[in-house]
Amino acid sequence: MSDPLPPGLHIVATPIGNLGDLSPRAADTLRRADRILAEDTRVTAKLLQHIAARVPMGRYDDHSSDEQRERIVAELGDRAIALVSDAGTPLISDPGYKLVRAARAAGHSVHTVPGPSAVTAALTLAGLPTDRFLFLGFLPAKAKARAEAIAEVAGVRATLVLYESGPRLCATLAALAEGFGQRDAAVAREISKLHEECVTGTLSELTERYFNAAPKGEIVIVVAPPGEAASASNEEIDTAIDEALLRLSPSRAAAEVAERLNVPRKRAYARALERSK
Ligand code: SAM
Repeated sequence: MSDPLPPGLHIVATPIGNLGDLSPRAADTLRRADRILAEDTRVTAKLLQHIAARVPMGRYDDHSSDEQRERIVAELGDRAIALVSDAGTPLISDPGYKLVRAARAAGHSVHTVPGPSAVTAALTLAGLPTDRFLFLGFLPAKAKARAEAIAEVAGVRATLVLYESGPRLCATLAALAEGFGQRDAAVAREISKLHEECVTGTLSELTERYFNAAPKGEIVIVVAPPGEAASASNEEIDTAIDEALLRLSPSRAAAEVAERLNVPRKRAYARALERSK
């Protein structure tokens, strides 16, 4: 029999679609843990069956109470407890950070077994800059809150990574196009699974591509950082708007300038309304 694991909390990344991506160390940690905490024990049971691990499981998810956390933390002094999520790296748009915080606060050790995550996997497919990226998780579902969240990061000079579902993909791409103007982007779908694909194009092209064609499966959207022109000053926008207003209505002038200067259409429209007064 192998040595027991050191007591404490062991965060274990699991595959995001291909069982072959479970690392030997992850499998070893799961087999040797005293107990495994899972988001959905039925999902994790399949993984454990695959590696012939027979370890008692418990549930840990976003609904776990402070009392449940305290009970788990009380065990960490002399037991090795592994935390997994349904897929990928725990804590990344998944439960766990409160448990890690509580374990640390109580002086227990926390170990990690790094591995697959859809964020980093999508970045490797998209062909967009990877030197600086901002992970946004899931955007709010409601249109107003989503537009606000998008406006908040419009000026961030980094590649953006978002999680999304098939039915909401088109609306989210349209909202991103509206908030950011023309930017390159990628939709990475079913990564590491049989039907893995990565479709690239501008946000408007991708919105069109998925219009009335919600794809199946799991999705990550990757959006390029703003181009140099996106930082156009108000003066530059005003000059372009003034010229366009000689020929066009405010909304058409805004659309033309947004496209040409690569600035969000909303920003150009606000200037067009102001200048046409
Ligand atoms: N903790 C996970 C990780 O490390 O990637 C993410 C969990 S989050 C609840 C689930 C979301 O991740 C999905 O809705 C999807 O946006 C993304 N995702 C997970 N697996 C994926 C895959 N194989 N292909 C594309 N996106 C995936």
